[in-house]
Amino acid sequence: MCGVIGLFHAGEEDVFPDAVNGLFQMQHRGQDACGIALADGRIVRHHKGIGHVREVFPSRPLPDFSGFVATGHVRYPTQGDNRVRNTQPHVVSTLRGTNLALSSNGDLTNYHTVRARLEEKGVDFLGTNDAELILKFIAWEHLEGGCSLLEAIRRMQREVRGAYSATLVTGDALYAIRDPWALRPLCFGTSGVLHVVASETPALDIARVDLVDEVGAGEVVHFGREGITRHPHPDVASVRHGSPVPAHCIFEHVYFSRPDSIAFGERVYDVRRRIGAWLARHEDEAIDVVVPVPDSSNAIALGYAHESGVPFEFGLIRNHYVGRTFIHPDQARRDDGVKQKFNPLRSVFKGRRVALVDDSIVRGTTLRKLTRMVRAAGAAEVHLRIGSPVTRHSCFYGVDTPDAEALIGSRMDEAGICAHLTADSLRYISVEGLREAAAGDGHFCMACFTGEYPEPVREQKASK
Ligand code: 5GP
Ligand code: SF4
Ligand code: MG
Repeated sequence: MCGVIGLFHAGEEDVFPDAVNGLFQMQHRGQDACGIALADGRIVRHHKGIGHVREVFPSRPLPDFSGFVATGHVRYPTQGDNRVRNTQPHVVSTLRGTNLALSSNGDLTNYHTVRARLEEKGVDFLGTNDAELILKFIAWEHLEGGCSLLEAIRRMQREVRGAYSATLVTGDALYAIRDPWALRPLCFGTSGVLHVVASETPALDIARVDLVDEVGAGEVVHFGREGITRHPHPDVASVRHGSPVPAHCIFEHVYFSRPDSIAFGERVYDVRRRIGAWLARHEDEAIDVVVPVPDSSNAIALGYAHESGVPFEFGLIRNHYVGRTFIHPDQARRDDGVKQKFNPLRSVFKGRRVALVDDSIVRGTTLRKLTRMVRAAGAAEVHLRIGSPVTRHSCFYGVDTPDAEALIGSRMDEAGICAHLTADSLRYISVEGLREAAAGDGHFCMACFTGEYPEPVREQKASK
């Protein structure tokens, strides 16, 4: 998970402030590093660094760091490799004066194969990042292969497998590029003069541009002096090995996206409310109070409360300044993180039969700790209600789920998980229930629950 933005101002006004604000609205998609590349009609300049958007861009890094075309990125925390050379945007500059910069969200599944082919042609790599591979593929085809940028992008789309929602900047134009499965989100909007491409719609809202549409599966959208030109993929099913339908990451609705985002055609808040309503309709325990694990489950618990009439309470108060507990490699530190993050309100729990709602169970760390905490706060019964099906499989498309062995859902059945979490009962939404709640075109990747990846995944997850 990462966030990308692209901007183009038709009046050739500076877009640096809008780029920073848009990235800031997507800070939840990546807190490790960020960067922006800007073009002023000729030169592409870039600035990137480790840290949050407001830390890397407290102000304009240099007086001439401005331009009317931009690409920007926020990078999701990963366990090890947080070197600046792997941060985005990636930039290619040639002696002939060509400048290109690209940011992308998503993981490729045939990185090593494609990289080896490019290295044989003499292409050098600075790091091990998918976006660098995509950019250098396009740059090589365009500069050495002599084809147009659009054709270079089409060639990249034929070779490269996996997820990419990307924005590409030339000296004076912006391209939005989406993989044929449309795995990760990417939308665009315009005010008439300012065009913005982004992973999530709040980045459009802050720039006061109106949402036009998603970038289609396999589509390339060009933003230039002549306006907006859409290039739907001429044969998108062929680059999906014959599949007539895309595969949007359902986890965007479950967890990643902000509730105020419109993802895959649906408001995420509404989807989460419908997930909660499904859980309420399938309730078979007597429940006195429904409590979310904040913040990602708030709308799910609210949907549950509205559907069932059971009172909703914020029984767990969250400390917003606790860092990332989820990805810490050490279990003891993850356990401690959960305690630091949540504190229970005894008055909410005392003597009550509680439905404790969370969006997902990955390793089980959070809910094992919270079940005990809620019981210690006086709850009579703790019933866990989960807004996604059992997570059994790893993600190969850019989500930092651990290897399958670390997923509690791949090691135990539901009764075993319930016992491990020390809960009185446990219920997950079904795959069909989730698909129904997510609505949209109904074409989702649900591989972390079903193991059915949109295309065969051969390379190992941990090998990059
Ligand atoms: P667990 O504690 O079971 O390992 O993880 C489940 C918790 O992590 C849930 O509260 C959920 O909101 C959160 N979560 C699920 N997926 C991700 C992810 O990819 N990244 C982060 N940071 N948190 C996640
Ligand atoms: Fe999303 Fe899961 Fe598919 Fe990864 S495997 S893209 S997290 S639905
Ligand atoms: Mg959570």
